[in-house]
Amino acid sequence: MNIVVLIKQVPEIALIKVDEASNQVVLPQGPGVVNPFDEYGVEEALRLKEKHGGKVSVVSVGTERTESALRNCLALGVDEAYLVTDEQFKGSDQQAIGRILAAALKKMGEYDLILAGKQAVDSDSAQVPGAVAANLDIPQAMFVRKFETVEGGKAVVQRTTEDGYDVVELSLPAVVSVVKEINEPRLPSLKGKMAAKKKEITRWNATDLGIDSSAVGTNSKTKITKVASPPPRPKGEFIEGETPEEIADKLFNKLRENKIL
Ligand SMILES: Cc1cc2nc3c(=O)[nH]c(=O)nc-3n(C[C@H](O)[C@H](O)[C@H](O)COP(=O)(O)OP(=O)(O)OC[C@H]3O[C@@H](n4cnc5c(N)ncnc54)[C@H](O)[C@@H]3O)c2cc1C
Repeated sequence: MNIVVLIKQVPEIALIKVDEASNQVVLPQGPGVVNPFDEYGVEEALRLKEKHGGKVSVVSVGTERTESALRNCLALGVDEAYLVTDEQFKGSDQQAIGRILAAALKKMGEYDLILAGKQAVDSDSAQVPGAVAANLDIPQAMFVRKFETVEGGKAVVQRTTEDGYDVVELSLPAVVSVVKEINEPRLPSLKGKMAAKKKEITRWNATDLGIDSSAVGTNSKTKITKVASPPPRPKGEFIEGETPEEIADKLFNKLRENKIL
């Protein structure tokens, strides 16, 4: 089975700043990391490959800096990596990224399953996997916490809901975004890291993918009109007491007073 995982390289979240004067998000320098939710996608793809055979590929729309994120995935045992990069893509919104990824997947040709993280930890929109499915006109299941079965051209998955989960059957190929409950990602071995350094990364640009620039980059339909920091959190309260029991009692009473219990 051929599985493609969508990878976004994200900056280290704690280092992101908001400059309200210039209405800009200031990203830290440095290579960034693989979006943590995508690591669960890679792990699930590797586990499915170990069970059913086949190939795992990763693809990212990014810049030359994104190579390091792709190499991290290769170090884990991913077979192939694709970097989709072009100056024309700068300023693309989520729907445009979905269109670009769909064009790359069409060029890759054969895939049974497309995995993604549930959301990127920097933009947090959770739109890209759905946009990819819509552009490829294939089924999708978002926020999946378990693959129950994958056989006979179908996958049965558990999709997380607010109250628990739904069991959904999908015809393959399909797009599935995953939550962190799905598995525990492995760490790369030294051998894997060494092998990843030598692996070829396929690079495609807008021309390779036949992408019309009128629908991507700064021609995206979304325009950012304002950027602002979230309001500061209200100060917490320390509950003091002579013994743990006294502190617990005070906490219990406070929760009662505030109708939380
Ligand atoms: C007007 C506008 C301009 C923007 N300009 C830029 C810009 O110049 N440079 C820039 O870096 N960002 C830019 N962004 C942000 C960028 O479009 C989004 O970060 C990107 O579309 C992904 O959306 P998200 O982070 O909300 O991903 P989500 O939809 O939350 O991501 C969910 C999952 O989709 C997959 N995924 C998401 N993004 C990618 C990707 N790029 N490649 C492969 N898989 C992916 C991953 O599996 C991820 O876990 C811009 C956004 C807007 C609205």
